[in-house]
Amino acid sequence: MQDQVITDKLGRLLQDLRISVTDRCNFRCRYCMPREVFGKDFQFLPREHLLDFEEIERIAKAFLELGVKKIRLTGGEPLLRRNITDLIKRLASLDGLEDIGLTTNGVLLGRMAPELKEAGLRRVNVSLDALDEETFMAINDSKISSHSIIASIDKAVAAGLNVKVNMVVKKGMNDHEVLPMAEFFKERGITLRYIEFMDVGQTNGWDFKHVVTKKEIYQQIAANYELEPMDPAYVGEVAKRYRYKNTNTEVGFITSVSESFCSSCTRARIAADGHFYTCLFAGTGLNLKEIIRSGATNAELRDIIISRWNKREDRYSDQRTEETARKRKKIEMSYIGG
Ligand code: SAM
Ligand code: SF4
Ligand code: SF4
Repeated sequence: MQDQVITDKLGRLLQDLRISVTDRCNFRCRYCMPREVFGKDFQFLPREHLLDFEEIERIAKAFLELGVKKIRLTGGEPLLRRNITDLIKRLASLDGLEDIGLTTNGVLLGRMAPELKEAGLRRVNVSLDALDEETFMAINDSKISSHSIIASIDKAVAAGLNVKVNMVVKKGMNDHEVLPMAEFFKERGITLRYIEFMDVGQTNGWDFKHVVTKKEIYQQIAANYELEPMDPAYVGEVAKRYRYKNTNTEVGFITSVSESFCSSCTRARIAADGHFYTCLFAGTGLNLKEIIRSGATNAELRDIIISRWNKREDRYSDQRTEETARKRKKIEMSYIGG
């Protein structure tokens, strides 16, 4: 079927799809799933509420037919989803898909990298917030060392995956690691992207004063290395990209707080239970699982997605204030998928 051009109320295309495959995680990052909230008694989604692989494939197909070209699997921790490589195989062979990636904390990546590559995965973004062991363990609150994540990164590179590293920077948590991380990944020729700490969810105690802005991070790096700006790799790319002069190594910034990029946000999200969200900061989603399970045809599913996207007006980061950050009811990142 012919690709359609679907736009929202602000003229933004529907181009990227993030699919969360689980709301569970083997980390308890303080800024995402604090153990006091996501403890032993926390009620994660029961198995029957998760989309199965057939349903995920159907939804992905519908989005690809509507112009999506890129899919990223996320969570929670996506590598915890049983038989994830089977899902990747299914998705990688779908018509119209140009790129498939996955975002992971890296714990299981070293072991799984060859089979993920074999299944058709192209790229992985590995989250690593510090090299210093004490800092890293205090963040992940799960006794996993940064050395083990670095070993996973090396194995993913060796398996032929395109690897980028993501570091969320929060004041007083890991801002002292900005430069050591830059040096380390520059040496290895791996792209590092700094992510401004965001007010996702209700549980991470976010405040403007915790945000380390792109400008502050950039200044630290530029005081030590010469950086050259680069063009976005594609329309809708969220990272501001730079290259270390006289190298091919990049460094990027995801500036959701200090320089929002809602006007070029072409991203749809599917939570692990099949809810479709048009913004990371959305309060409500559309239950595609229920629609599928009640017998909708593919054409009906596409029409429902089109109609939802056509109504989309989200631009939360453009409008963020102390008050909206505090008052708005938002969904947890581990559920909606980062
Ligand atoms: N568990 C996987 C991981 O950590 O890579 C995938 C899901 S995680 C929610 C996706 C990304 O969101 C990670 O890079 C994580 O650091 C980032 N993230 C989580 N909470 C965040 C916050 N409050 N602000 C900015 N980034 C956040
Ligand atoms: Fe888990 Fe990723 Fe959230 Fe950390 S950021 S708790 S690894 S989902
Ligand atoms: Fe997109 Fe919402 Fe983020 Fe703006 S706030 S860039 S609309 S996800």
